[in-house]
Amino acid sequence: MLSNFNYVRPKSLEDVFKHSSSGGAQVHAGGTDLLACLRDHVFEASKIVSLNNIKSLRGIKKTSQGGMRIGALTTLREVVGDSEVKKNYAALGQAASEVASPQLRNQGTLGGNLCQKPRCWYYRGEFHCLRKGGEECFAVAGENAFHCIFGGESCYIVHPSDTAPALCALAAQIRIRGPKGQRSVALENFHVPPAEDYTKETRLAPGEIVTEIVLPPPVEGLKSPYRKVRARQSWDFALAGVALALVFKGDQVQKARVFLSGVAPVPWRSKEVEEVVTGKRLDEAVVRKAAEAAVQKAKPLEQNAYKIPLLRGLIEEQLLAIAKP
Ligand SMILES: Cc1cc2nc3c(=O)[nH]c(=O)nc-3n(C[C@H](O)[C@H](O)[C@H](O)COP(=O)(O)OP(=O)(O)OC[C@H]3O[C@@H](n4cnc5c(N)ncnc54)[C@H](O)[C@@H]3O)c2cc1C
Repeated sequence: MLSNFNYVRPKSLEDVFKHSSSGGAQVHAGGTDLLACLRDHVFEASKIVSLNNIKSLRGIKKTSQGGMRIGALTTLREVVGDSEVKKNYAALGQAASEVASPQLRNQGTLGGNLCQKPRCWYYRGEFHCLRKGGEECFAVAGENAFHCIFGGESCYIVHPSDTAPALCALAAQIRIRGPKGQRSVALENFHVPPAEDYTKETRLAPGEIVTEIVLPPPVEGLKSPYRKVRARQSWDFALAGVALALVFKGDQVQKARVFLSGVAPVPWRSKEVEEVVTGKRLDEAVVRKAAEAAVQKAKPLEQNAYKIPLLRGLIEEQLLAIAKP
């Protein structure tokens, strides 16, 4: 059952910040994750601040520099359907299309997708775990088949968003506004690893919201697929996934950005893969070496070592596919 809360729908950002910076407030976009968290008492809210009256947070536009600006309230369905996204930022379109179900993509927003809470069943369940202020991470000695194989320091969640790794690979910036003004952060630095603070998922300060995501101008020769593997054909979160943004000159990789999903508490940059492929033609030997390098530093828990061959195979497949003319 939901606890009681006040619900406000401010008409201006100034009014949003008045409410969002009061203690106990939670921001509401599409509500597909927020309401489940409140219902399951993952956290409580005394006030829900809806962003839905703020029109400036919606829509997709070109920036004056030739890039793209996507408002935080833009739905995932709108992202999937946008022709410029499809043409120039394929990883984002593919990642958004892999989120949940059509109903949830109709309702869920890009901002909410980046700020959603982790899916760890201990965190979501009736366990007073480390991330909720308790003393231990129950996944360490518990059911950990869906937990991380990289970056687990005291807490072993996996980051749940599909669009975040795609946007990180595409070098997106995230714009944040709050009572103290506006700032921009590279999306790859927006999520907080447990080694730094296991009680926080993002770098949003109290009262701040995400207003938009900004993509750089499209680059000639860029190929950027996103692919995730899940346990079933129906809606599900990634067991492992990979977002590639490789810039080719002829058949050679000039620049590479590679981010993994489903395997770490934040979108996980694989510098190991980037180093192996940069300056190379993606023949079978290079691809095999890159996929091997990707999993070299993995530290599985008792039940999730299957993620290592899964990830290795996924990277190998995706690199071979991208190498085809
Ligand atoms: C059955 C199911 C399956 C799902 N499958 C997937 C999946 O496969 N992949 C995936 O990536 N996700 C998945 N999701 C997660 C999620 O619900 C969606 O990704 C959705 O995009 C969240 O957006 P929303 O607008 O509904 O967010 P909300 O529920 O409104 O908000 C989510 C969180 O973000 C905060 N928030 C929202 N907008 C902002 C903002 N602009 N600034 C600051 N904070 C903000 C809220 O306070 C809340 O804590 C799934 C959810 C469900 C219920």
